[in-house]
Amino acid sequence: MLYEISEKAIQLENQGKKMIKFNLGDPDMPTPPEIIEAAYDAMKQGKTKYSSAAGEKVLREELASIHDVSVDNVVITTGSKWAVFSLMFLLLNKGENVVVPSPHWTSYDLAAKRVGAELRFLKGDLESNWKIDVEKLENLIDEKTRLLILNSPGNPTSKVIDEKTFSEIVQIAKSRGITVMSDEVYADISFVKAKSILDFGDDQILISGFSKIFAMTGWRIGYAIVEKELAQKMIKLNQITTTCVPAFIQYGALKGLETKKKIEDAVRDQFRLRADAATKVLSKAKMNFSRPDAPFYLFPKVDGLDSERFALDLLDSGVAIAPGTAFGDYREYFRIALTVNEEKIREGLETLCEALP
Ligand code: PMP
Repeated sequence: MLYEISEKAIQLENQGKKMIKFNLGDPDMPTPPEIIEAAYDAMKQGKTKYSSAAGEKVLREELASIHDVSVDNVVITTGSKWAVFSLMFLLLNKGENVVVPSPHWTSYDLAAKRVGAELRFLKGDLESNWKIDVEKLENLIDEKTRLLILNSPGNPTSKVIDEKTFSEIVQIAKSRGITVMSDEVYADISFVKAKSILDFGDDQILISGFSKIFAMTGWRIGYAIVEKELAQKMIKLNQITTTCVPAFIQYGALKGLETKKKIEDAVRDQFRLRADAATKVLSKAKMNFSRPDAPFYLFPKVDGLDSERFALDLLDSGVAIAPGTAFGDYREYFRIALTVNEEKIREGLETLCEALP
């Protein structure tokens, strides 16, 4: 459905229709020029050949220093998406299952299914402000559970998991011998401080990337921090699949890390203003939603709504959104990605509120 909406929005645009696109988590701002310059310099210096499947040593060293781990724990991947997929591929066997709080990023589900594993969702709701019910989560675990996925701040709710809940979940996973895979791609630009899996020890998995913080979605670079043996397996898998993330891209990413504070502060401020603009319009329309703890998303609920129908119809009014069904059993919800400027946010959301059935 997400794909259908995206394609239809592009088609309408090509026909000359003005579209306000809230449907994709792809920041509209350009990649910072210093990153582009660094990548270009690296290309001119000949960083255009096959390179290490683990990633460039300097980049791994920088990430190891940021996260206070050894360089042997860091693997550079073709987007964080590839880290998610390759870890599922390496860790899961047919018939095993993965527990994940829902609503959830669609790729977890699709990747788990691809490797023959089952996904078990813990259905959260807006009424509890998307708080994870730890007891219910534990009840989903059985002897076939291999992985537990956390995503804080999360897509599509933009909620951060509080420290107590995070800690309880990690304790449960450890006591049941399950690995936690913590996807933290939005953490550095979060409005509120988000806990990291590494705050609870270094024996679990951290996944992060450059796409969201540095507006580098098309560069395809992310990374995983895992124990050494698993890192070796990931590197071998890179060798037989992607080979490496192009070295010049890694030098661009390294430049991003060097100017990280400045960039992430600017991105966070920008998205805070956008979130404020969006919440104002939605509050005025008495929409039911939870204020975001982080960029980029809002996930409102309208009782009785068929969000698939609504999302398709709304395209004719020049607004694209993602229906809640793309993120689990959430037909009455829809996701708004704040990846357009404030003026368009106001205009698009006013149109959306007027179009509600
Ligand atoms: N994790 C989450 C939660 C996401 O929302 C996304 C992008 N939509 C990704 C990972 C993938 O990001 P990338 O592969 O571009 O690093």
